[in-house]
Amino acid sequence: MPPDAPHDLDFETLAIRAGQRRTPEGEHNDPIFATSSFVFKNAAEAAARFVDNAPGNVYSRFTNPTVRVFEDRLAALEGGRFAIATASGMAAIQMVSQSLLRAGDHVVVSANVFGSTVTLFEKLLARFDIETSLVPLTDLSAWRAAMRANTRLLFAETPSNPLCEVADLAALAELAHDGGARLVVDNVCTPALQRSLRLGADVVIYSATKYLDGQGRCVGGALVTDDEEVYDECFSFLRTTGPSLSPFNAWVLLKGLETLSLRMRAHCDNAMRVAAWLRAHDAVGRVHYPGLRDHPGHDLATRQQAGYGGVLSFEVDGGREAAWSIIDRTEMVSITANFGDAKTTITHPATTTHGRLSDAQRRAAGIGEGLIRVAVGLESTRDVERDLARGLDRLAG
Ligand code: PLP
Repeated sequence: MPPDAPHDLDFETLAIRAGQRRTPEGEHNDPIFATSSFVFKNAAEAAARFVDNAPGNVYSRFTNPTVRVFEDRLAALEGGRFAIATASGMAAIQMVSQSLLRAGDHVVVSANVFGSTVTLFEKLLARFDIETSLVPLTDLSAWRAAMRANTRLLFAETPSNPLCEVADLAALAELAHDGGARLVVDNVCTPALQRSLRLGADVVIYSATKYLDGQGRCVGGALVTDDEEVYDECFSFLRTTGPSLSPFNAWVLLKGLETLSLRMRAHCDNAMRVAAWLRAHDAVGRVHYPGLRDHPGHDLATRQQAGYGGVLSFEVDGGREAAWSIIDRTEMVSITANFGDAKTTITHPATTTHGRLSDAQRRAAGIGEGLIRVAVGLESTRDVERDLARGLDRLAG
């Protein structure tokens, strides 16, 4: 399917075919263009591409056909006009913030975003006189109160980690636009489950490292937008500073996209099963999973998402010692902080992903010492449950 074909195909079809450009070789699979630069027919063609932005490839920092297929396919899945791939999710967040913000601007960010995102806004951008206010993700009045005349961006990560809180994207978009700002969403649950642009977001960010790849094979990122000004600013940033995705990683991510829909459905089903099993276990206190009816974000997630995602967390009595004993007694699930993988992963947020926060910041984020996060993979859930039961049964008995 050529990249400019109308995107009226279903999501599952677009995930496999959108953006593909077949070369005269007639290859069925997407080729990897492992080349740093491209050759011009003559000096005039080189000049036209360099200076006048004539269509065509120049140099793989900002034009590579394999990367472009990934960008076009992701844009089609999101229902957006433009996508730019980056070397990592953090590179995408840096690209959008440094492209759109100027000295003297102000940003409102949900407090429980990924740790490096907080560091980027609060430390690195502060050096350039960009101020950040952190607010609770689900507290609309706090977002409203934090906005100022110079607020240019609202940045929300949803569903959040590790408590799976859900932001009301339509309400946040309205708030941003009323205040002359843009809404940027770090979409943790992929376009298979959430179309943030349709809900009003101006820019969607992905750590493609997670579910877009889905098998823990590479680091990558991307943004998608309908806003031509955002695209132009970000593309210029990419071209000038070079946080570019490699053609090989773009190809790996293309393979990931082909199965995205199937995988996300299976992640959601498995996580729901494990959440219900955990809730019935005597050693488990609260289970945080939006698929459970008593989760505070359940109704919103039901409206806003096509599934509840693969990540959950749960609490045990006994603090760090008890939590670590459950993690250390597992024999199959992987003790790692990454998520969005076919392999189930387990981590203790208070001492890993949120380990560099102060006690007060951790308390404010609702992350106790007895909290464990599980990103449920695609194995048999009976095996995942058996693995978690090794430590939980001892705690209960
Ligand atoms: N956003 C979220 C929600 C993440 O969990 C992560 C990484 O863990 C990132 C962004 C950063 O992505 P990357 O590791 O691809 O730079």
